[in-house]
Amino acid sequence: MSPSPEVKNPPELEFGNAWEYAAAPESVKVDIADKYGMFINGAFVAPMSRKYMDTINPGNEEVLSKIAVANEDDVERAVAAAKAAFPKWKRLKASERAKYLFRIARRLQERAREFSVLETLDGGKPIKESRDVDIPEAVKHFFYHAGWADKLDYAFPGRKGRPLGVCAQIIPWNFPLLMAAWKIAPALACGNTVVLKPAETTSLTALRLAEIFVEVGLPPGVVNIITGAGDTGAALVAHKDVQKVAFTGSTAVGKAIAQECAGSGKRLTLELGGKSPNIIFEDASLDQAVDGIVQGIFFNQGHVCCAGSRLFVQEGVMQEVLAKLEVRMQSLRVGDPMDKNTDLGAINSLGQLATIKRYLEVGEAEGAQRHQPSVKLPKRGYYLPPTWFTGVQPSHTIAREEIFGPVLSVMSFRTPEEAIARANNTPYGLAAGIWTDKGSKIFDIASRLKAGVVWCNTYNRFDAASPFGGYKQSGFGREGGRQGLLSYLELV
Ligand code: NAP
Ligand code: MG
Repeated sequence: MSPSPEVKNPPELEFGNAWEYAAAPESVKVDIADKYGMFINGAFVAPMSRKYMDTINPGNEEVLSKIAVANEDDVERAVAAAKAAFPKWKRLKASERAKYLFRIARRLQERAREFSVLETLDGGKPIKESRDVDIPEAVKHFFYHAGWADKLDYAFPGRKGRPLGVCAQIIPWNFPLLMAAWKIAPALACGNTVVLKPAETTSLTALRLAEIFVEVGLPPGVVNIITGAGDTGAALVAHKDVQKVAFTGSTAVGKAIAQECAGSGKRLTLELGGKSPNIIFEDASLDQAVDGIVQGIFFNQGHVCCAGSRLFVQEGVMQEVLAKLEVRMQSLRVGDPMDKNTDLGAINSLGQLATIKRYLEVGEAEGAQRHQPSVKLPKRGYYLPPTWFTGVQPSHTIAREEIFGPVLSVMSFRTPEEAIARANNTPYGLAAGIWTDKGSKIFDIASRLKAGVVWCNTYNRFDAASPFGGYKQSGFGREGGRQGLLSYLELV
């Protein structure tokens, strides 16, 4: 039966934002200012340093805008604003704090298309990922933590949670808005105030989030956003009025921050790098597993801390998996991040492109075989074909170090014991994947892998209710879920 021609759109679809929301993201026009100040005490202000730096579109190398470079005086202003706002924010009725977080979530949802476009322009990730993952997940984090704000008394039975104070939050460039949401939402729900520093190549969506803070009337000083490079982050971490440091980024910078905080009494959580194993057993559904391999390492050009960058395939199915992988790789579309059919967009920066290329050379020099599909890359912009290496030994550099790009190291194993030993043979412990038909094997192997997250017959799935974090050099502390609240509360 064909639908009746009288059927009309529900009324809410006929007005305002609902239409905007329904538009394809690549057709949404996003206004980008020539330059951006910082967001301090509820207003956008010029940097005391008077310095600005370019932020570019890695998809075509064009300058998108200029962003402020905060110096120590700017850090001082931002921390002072957060400190002044803390007593009132902490005393605000928890249900009122929740209302602000709900409003932020709603407004972000309404403006999702615009944020998706801006995220892709500034960072190079495919628009379908910004649209389907980054922005919706950021929205969910605000909704999820809005729900916690007035239930904290029940979160840890027998204990009361007290906010910590001013939280310095430093985030990387791979999931710019999502990492901002992971940090800001729980901090505010727990009654803390924030100074956030986004990564220097991808500050634009965090600054636009500040527009939403103004729109929803968030009290001045509750969240402050300062932009700049590594020195800005270091000055923020070192500030005496900061009570808590939450850092997501590389293991090297994480170690330096841990040293800086040692003995200061500051609370610290670190979300650092990874070199996660993705293990394919011969009883797995291989077509599904090959999709999981691709999703595990090529999602967001491999700029993913939990990327399944070490692939372990059981010997009996190695040839079949490699053959299927090769076919699948030919179908991946690399290029313009704004094209909704693109699977791999641009590498985030020229520096990161150079780092990845160095690893490709080292891989070959140490004896592994490089494979890449034949793809035509755009003339301008930072692009790299997806790459996989065979003939990799566990001792090879490309099997040990985090490359943070679209590069997969393929290795084999014979028995489950060998798979576990090889998977755990790393200084990192962020994530792992298991592909098998046997439920008992999943539970057994998952419990013996030293990894913060273990995915079974899937990879790179996230949920605000599920805690995320690492072991060993992947850091400590958890983000998301009930456990994530502990990073922003003192239990008394
Ligand atoms: P990064 O170089 O460590 O930078 C992270 C942030 O720290 C940036 O905002 C950076 O500013 C700032 N920073 C640099 N030096 C600093 C210092 N001395 N003191 C304080 N802050 C400083 O890392 P990245 O290259 O941006 O990000 C990639 C890394 O993040 C990878 O290792 C990845 O695995 C990790 N990561 C981990 C998780 C997780 O949840 N475990 C999630 C995402 C990413 P600039 O932008 O100016 O350098
Ligand atoms: Mg940029």
